[in-house]
Amino acid sequence: MINFNQPHLTGKEAHYMYEAVFAGKLSGNGKFTKACQSWFEQRYGFRKCLLTTSGTDALEMCAMLCDLKPGDEVIVPSYTFVSTALAFLREGAKVVFADSMTRNPNIDAETLETLVTPRTKVIVPVHYAGVACDMDAIMAVAKKHNLLVVEDAAQAIDSYYKSQSSNPKSQIPLGSIGHLAAFSFHETKNITAGGEGGLLVVNDERFVRRAEIIWEKGTNRAEFFRGEVNKYGWVDMGSSFLPSEVNAAFLWAQVENIDDIQTKRKALWNRYRERLTPLAEQGRFTLPDIPGYATNNAHMFYLVLPNLEARTAFIKYLKDHGVCAVFHYLSLHSSEYYKSRHDGRALPQCDRFADCLVRLPLFYDLSLDTVDEICDLISTYYQ
Ligand SMILES: *Cc1c(COP(=O)(O)O)cnc(C)c1O
Repeated sequence: MINFNQPHLTGKEAHYMYEAVFAGKLSGNGKFTKACQSWFEQRYGFRKCLLTTSGTDALEMCAMLCDLKPGDEVIVPSYTFVSTALAFLREGAKVVFADSMTRNPNIDAETLETLVTPRTKVIVPVHYAGVACDMDAIMAVAKKHNLLVVEDAAQAIDSYYKSQSSNPKSQIPLGSIGHLAAFSFHETKNITAGGEGGLLVVNDERFVRRAEIIWEKGTNRAEFFRGEVNKYGWVDMGSSFLPSEVNAAFLWAQVENIDDIQTKRKALWNRYRERLTPLAEQGRFTLPDIPGYATNNAHMFYLVLPNLEARTAFIKYLKDHGVCAVFHYLSLHSSEYYKSRHDGRALPQCDRFADCLVRLPLFYDLSLDTVDEICDLISTYYQ
């Protein structure tokens, strides 16, 4: 069976984990945590980075930093992972679900403003498959209505937005545009912190101090260790969001190899696209859409089939031939937990992606030959 995903080891993970263990400091915010955080800050120009135990935790920190009051509204796409919405719901916010674009599952920036009310506080664009949302349009709505923007960049490491407003040639890293952003290093993402991990990015200076406090259980311990205060104590809300040094050590091995990882993933992705383009031209399915303002970080290769029946048959055929292809989200507005809370608006594009999108195997240790085999199988299916 060809798996849908397989975690990749660069070779140095165990070495760095031993190093962390024998250095005698296993709890968080040690050498490897700091190395990873500085690396992300330098490479992507993020103002302040804090490693977290998951992408979900990073989103929860974002929601806490937004300082929401009961009745405040947060606009979230419905076609996303539960955590995007749940992080804000836990803070007492009302989640207002937005539809996807027709061309790809990202939030529809053109109709976004119709969802803004006087209670709206935050917009949460999700860069689905690592492909940028239309950030110029989203930031313009946010600016006009004085809203915060939290990028759910869980799938978007090493992916970029090409701003139309500034220098059209400049590529802006995803996660550096909103006031806050969250990345995930779960084993299904391009790089992993050993199964579970995440990163909070703070781009707006106003949130830096409070982010460190929330990260360290509501204490000003980070300032104490920097010698900025002579005792530390409980100063705010918080929780234990920082990962162990063992996870940071694992992540460091992946970070060091990110260029190699990205090159390989892009080669596999491009092979899928090249091989499947003829079938897409025959109208069998559509291929991933990368707008002119976005780059591709090869997080995911997906197809959008015409309907649910076609997708079900396609997944079964691949499974019967030893290939694990999987669908993705069920729209959150029609989930068991949320459907009675939703305001009743139809979100047809979210429902279409929920029914029709299928993801093909894509991981570092997959070979181009195996991609060819999968594409041959798909071609045979449509003959
Ligand atoms: C993976 C993912 C998350 C959650 O990340 P975890 O590290 O698994 O908690 C959140 N949002 C999106 C869009 C994701 O893909």
